[in-house]
Amino acid sequence: MSNKFIYVFGPSKTEGAADMKNLLGGKGANLAEMCRLGISVPPGLTISTEACTVYTEQGAQSIQKLIEADVKQGMAFVEKEMGKKFGDAADPLLVSVRSGSRASMPGMMDTILNLGLNDEAVAGLANKSGNERFAWDSYRRFIQMYGDVVMGLKPESKEDHDPFEVIIDEIKEKQGVELDTDLSTADLKQMVNEFKAMIRTRLGREFPNDPWEQLWGAVMAVFQSWNNDRAVYYRQMNDIPGSWGTAVNIQSMVFGNLGQNSGTGVAFTRDAASGEDIFNGEFLINAQGEDVVAGIRTPQQITLEGSRRWAELALVSEADRAAKFPSLEEIMPAIYKELLKTETALENHYKDMQDIEFTIQEGKLWMLQTRSAKRTGAALVRTSVEMLKQGLIDEKTALLRVAPDRLNELLHPVFDGQAIKKARLIASGLPASPGAATGQIVFFADEAEEWVAQGKDVILVRQETSPEDLRGMVVAKGILTARGGMTSHAAVVARGMGKCCVSGAGSVRVDPKARTMTVDGVVYKEGDWVSLDGSTGKVYEGKVPTKDAELSGDFGTLMELADRYKRLAIRANADTPEDAKVARNFGAVGIGLCRTEHMFFEGDRIKSVREMILSQDEAGRRKALAKLLPMQRGDFEGLFLEMDGLPVTIRLLDPPLHEFLPHDEAGQTAMAKEMGVSYDNIKHRVDDLHESNPMMGHRGCRLGISYPEITEMQARAIIEAALNAKAKGRDVKVEIMIPLVTTVREFNAQAKVIRDTIAAVFKERGVEISYLLGTMIETPRGALVADSIGKQAEFFSFGTNDLTQMTLGFSRDDIGKFLPFYLRDGMYEQDPFQSIDQKGVGLLVKMAVEKGRAVRTGIKLGVCGEHGGDPASIDFFHRVGLDYVSCSPFRVPIARLAAAQAAISN
Ligand code: PEP
Ligand code: MG
Repeated sequence: MSNKFIYVFGPSKTEGAADMKNLLGGKGANLAEMCRLGISVPPGLTISTEACTVYTEQGAQSIQKLIEADVKQGMAFVEKEMGKKFGDAADPLLVSVRSGSRASMPGMMDTILNLGLNDEAVAGLANKSGNERFAWDSYRRFIQMYGDVVMGLKPESKEDHDPFEVIIDEIKEKQGVELDTDLSTADLKQMVNEFKAMIRTRLGREFPNDPWEQLWGAVMAVFQSWNNDRAVYYRQMNDIPGSWGTAVNIQSMVFGNLGQNSGTGVAFTRDAASGEDIFNGEFLINAQGEDVVAGIRTPQQITLEGSRRWAELALVSEADRAAKFPSLEEIMPAIYKELLKTETALENHYKDMQDIEFTIQEGKLWMLQTRSAKRTGAALVRTSVEMLKQGLIDEKTALLRVAPDRLNELLHPVFDGQAIKKARLIASGLPASPGAATGQIVFFADEAEEWVAQGKDVILVRQETSPEDLRGMVVAKGILTARGGMTSHAAVVARGMGKCCVSGAGSVRVDPKARTMTVDGVVYKEGDWVSLDGSTGKVYEGKVPTKDAELSGDFGTLMELADRYKRLAIRANADTPEDAKVARNFGAVGIGLCRTEHMFFEGDRIKSVREMILSQDEAGRRKALAKLLPMQRGDFEGLFLEMDGLPVTIRLLDPPLHEFLPHDEAGQTAMAKEMGVSYDNIKHRVDDLHESNPMMGHRGCRLGISYPEITEMQARAIIEAALNAKAKGRDVKVEIMIPLVTTVREFNAQAKVIRDTIAAVFKERGVEISYLLGTMIETPRGALVADSIGKQAEFFSFGTNDLTQMTLGFSRDDIGKFLPFYLRDGMYEQDPFQSIDQKGVGLLVKMAVEKGRAVRTGIKLGVCGEHGGDPASIDFFHRVGLDYVSCSPFRVPIARLAAAQAAISN
């Protein structure tokens, strides 16, 4: 840690730069960078993230002592740049105090504006600006924010209103006005008095009048907000370490609320929902700071094009739009041009889509923030592909920029076109974040969590959302707000999560206390079903059916690009021809695992399976297996037909037999009746098969070793199916896999049964095909003796589910009881069943890879456990040199991209 904690920025001196995000946070680093680019930024200072760490470890007093002198010096720099003095009664310097961590955490931490105002300075500000109303409006905003953030005056319960808003509403009602902007100076003065009185009554102390006391209170509150509930939760969701801390930016205020030639706004260099390359954003005239994002007033669009698009969606006529909601381009053309120039310069400089904040003070444009913009998965793909085509970034950057898991969103279902035409449209809002969502209405975030825990699908309906609603937004299928624009908190956060969101549906009246929403006189209660289309902003009554998404052109382009860079092949785990088809469409180049047992449950074949299990002797079992043979052959043939030309790995029966039998009395009675045997007979057999630890019991190749006739039947079914598919003109690539091997002797015994059976089939049919015979490596011993097994087996497929279970000694089925504590306490950083434990289980994989290759050149090596679809694990499998990973069909595109990223990064 360095002993420099303070970094200033301004036109005459800037100490930070964009590459200092770790120390200055994203906001501080980018403010400094903008200063270096010669863009108008109000001067200020950044207190480093390291100071936050000292605060967390040693407390407020220690850090204040450490940085006090430097903060004073930094403030003196700002005073000089602005020609004003902090705390001056005649012409006070006012500042904002804002958080800013390494990773952007929109709205999760705290901000305070207009700091430095007090009973004396407010008069000076009024005098100096010649605008008394503005001065008092700033003062009441400051008390409100400071009272909330630093002094902790929040609503008392979730249904209560904000205590400051209560006072504002009372004054508005008494004066008979609707908008904040309609309040007079006298009203605002009264508001300040009432705010202060309320603080006095509720806290028993005065609002601080000393600017330095105000400043230190604000700085510590920002540090403190790094560990507030919502910030901690957001970090957990996004894998952001708590040790990073937040920086604090103290910046000279500029004012968007100085009258009709002032304003404030938020803009994106491209469309954050679709990724379209079109400058867009929202602003408010005569407004300050958070007004735009808080969704309190409906903002206007920056560009004329955007304004017209908005009007069409909001059902506003062109005449009305031009009169009441004109764009910035129309009302301040010069400012608009400068803004356009700046946004282009910023995007070109950072080579990424930017999310910017600006303020216009009496006809002068100031930039307050720029950062890489949060966007939907679809927008991530489109912006990356288009920036590549535009020559802004190279192929590797385009591939690395899309987090593989975000592709999930492009695979989301959409509303069925026919069904949507018939659905009843109840309201329209802004298409804030695309997707189709159907669920039951709830009005509070915590209730959303409760309902979802009960297995329900919910739509979270709010007047406007605040960062407190985050947990509810995470679990909801979709979010509907009555107020707020495309840059409102709800919209920004929803897009970041890829969650369907319709915002600013103005005709929806929300009454959270009554738990109702009313649209055109129709009342919808908590629990009623609605459907949201986040791509059009439309809200429908009831449940509207969905269908699978189609892959867009840019998605295809990105996938082709990924295939050019990746070394790992991507296969899919698929048990049915339907799954195989999906996998192939998503670009799988083979089936890495077909779990044959899944076919045993289909239709009435389970009867034959049970008959086989209940048989007392081999003859009985063979009779039942003979009935299963044609069914299995049919299944496999379907797979081979579908996967024409691509390899198909079929695994022999794996689960313990008792899994095919009913365990309760009712089920056993029914089975006895169906099979024509006594209840006792069934019960005895079930009891016989009972094992204390079935996952380590009679399963895997142990079944085939006890009952070789099962292996015989399966080998015959596989090879006959392959011959049938070949006869139909298909190119068949058969791979037969033996599960749960621990010693080469098991492998050899099963291999003999398989080879003999296949030889017999070839003889009967008079044709032959080639096939591979391999094994799963999924027991620790199997991995340890992989060299001896590799001499016999033609391929290894790592079964990392069992390998994790047996290496860690963590039961796959019981992990839910203790894993949450392990993750909370950092025993493991991730669920080892989701992301491979590289140091432990990974070591076994690495060793087995080396042993296998040492004894057989060209041995095929893959993985078919769940880890095959996890990006971090894929990076590991790339590094240890596997040939392929196999994952569920829907994760194939994710795995393709992750494999490309692994190849680029290593
Ligand atoms: C494995 O153990 O990783 C595997 C793929 O097999 P299963 O999950 O069927 O036990
Ligand atoms: Mg297994």
